Amino acid sequence: QTETITFEMLNGLSKRSFPLCMRYLHDQMIQQHHLKHLGRLQYRLFLKGIGLSLDECMKFFRHEFVTNGQMNPAQFEREHVYNIRHAYGQEGKHTSYTPYSCMKIIQDPPPGVNEHHGCPYRHWDIPTLKQRLTTTYDMNEETVNDIIDKTKQHHYQIACQIYFEYQHKVKNYGVGINHPNQYFNESRKLLT
Ligand code: SF4
Repeated sequence: QTETITFEMLNGLSKRSFPLCMRYLHDQMIQQHHLKHLGRLQYRLFLKGIGLSLDECMKFFRHEFVTNGQMNPAQFEREHVYNIRHAYGQEGKHTSYTPYSCMKIIQDPPPGVNEHHGCPYRHWDIPTLKQRLTTTYDMNEETVNDIIDKTKQHHYQIACQIYFEYQHKVKNYGVGINHPNQYFNESRKLLT
């Protein structure tokens, strides 16, 4: 990992270099100052995978949950500090947990009400996907229609590849997307 990533950089990076699953989790975190359990797991391990240090990850969650959100510091200490350290292998069995692959994210239980984990191409309904890509993420109609076609054919990772190519202004980039962290690494290769 060549870049040193601080939590303040995540807003910019999420727009330029995160796949949609992680960009959306980031946006929800920033807007709601909270994420439910499975979203936290998915996003936290991805952040570890992009090289965000334990210290910066802790700052980020504290900043959103406590400084910007409603959580009191004691509750944060009680409920979140251990889990964040745990994800980084600093607690429990000191296992280093691996960030989730696309296959895992696609096959894991889908998000319920107010949950934001999962793969958007697999787990969002088509009108929601279309509306968010067009309105929230400001993508052009032709690209959105391409993504929707692939999604309807259950080619979720190809839909993700089209999103990648659009975000990076490349055509036929030729790298299949199989992991959110691989998406990130490919992005940084192009952008740095
Ligand atoms: Fe994330 Fe993989 Fe789905 Fe892309 S295909 S949005 S990287 S889970």
